[in-house]
Amino acid sequence: MEFRVEDAIQWFTKVNDKIQENKEYLTSLDQVIGDSDHGINMARGFQEVMSKLSAQEYEEVADVLKDVAMTLISKVGGASGPLFGTAFLKFSQAVKGINPVEYPSFTNGLEEALQGVMQRGKATLGEKTMIDVWSPVADAFQSADNFEENPFVEVAKRATENTKDIIATKGRAAYFKEKSIGHIDPGAASTYIIFEALAEVIKG
Ligand code: ADP
Ligand code: MG
Ligand code: MG
Repeated sequence: MEFRVEDAIQWFTKVNDKIQENKEYLTSLDQVIGDSDHGINMARGFQEVMSKLSAQEYEEVADVLKDVAMTLISKVGGASGPLFGTAFLKFSQAVKGINPVEYPSFTNGLEEALQGVMQRGKATLGEKTMIDVWSPVADAFQSADNFEENPFVEVAKRATENTKDIIATKGRAAYFKEKSIGHIDPGAASTYIIFEALAEVIKG
């Protein structure tokens, strides 16, 4: 497949549905190693994303990604808004003028998104953040050569589970030190949701 405007719209529609369904779950994860607002932040942000997307006509994928990014940056109070926003903004810049987005460009976009999150959050792999899911997913895209045969959703699932074993050294969870062990990182869980939604769009 090639990734088109309608796929991008469908992607964020599914992300929003899943985030709303998992709002309490995401907040419950943030209750243990944060400030109990991750589900609320994400639900609010993606609801605003849907209002924005549905009021517009789009010519290319990059423009959809840019509106998603700007909405998350401006409407979400928590750390996750600017971080996910930066991811989609870098993704948008990477695929600007490319429409539809073929697999190598999509892969490049994900890599740029990851780099954006790392720069913005001054964090790296293994700090118990959303990076611990973004990074293996970006690697899975590099290793495969088409959307259909890419096991990124299984990779994302495993990576999310694996955040349990990590001690948090960035974000609010870092205040919990060793006590953060044994718990899934909230932003990792919402990143998994984003890629689970993408897998459903690809399956069609
Ligand atoms: P806040 O922590 O401001 O309340 P949220 O609860 O919405 O914001 O989001 C928390 C999530 O943000 C964490 O679970 C983690 O995945 C992610 N996060 C926090 N700080 C960083 C960082 N410096 N780099 C990458 N991700 C981060
Ligand atoms: Mg929080
Ligand atoms: Mg907060």
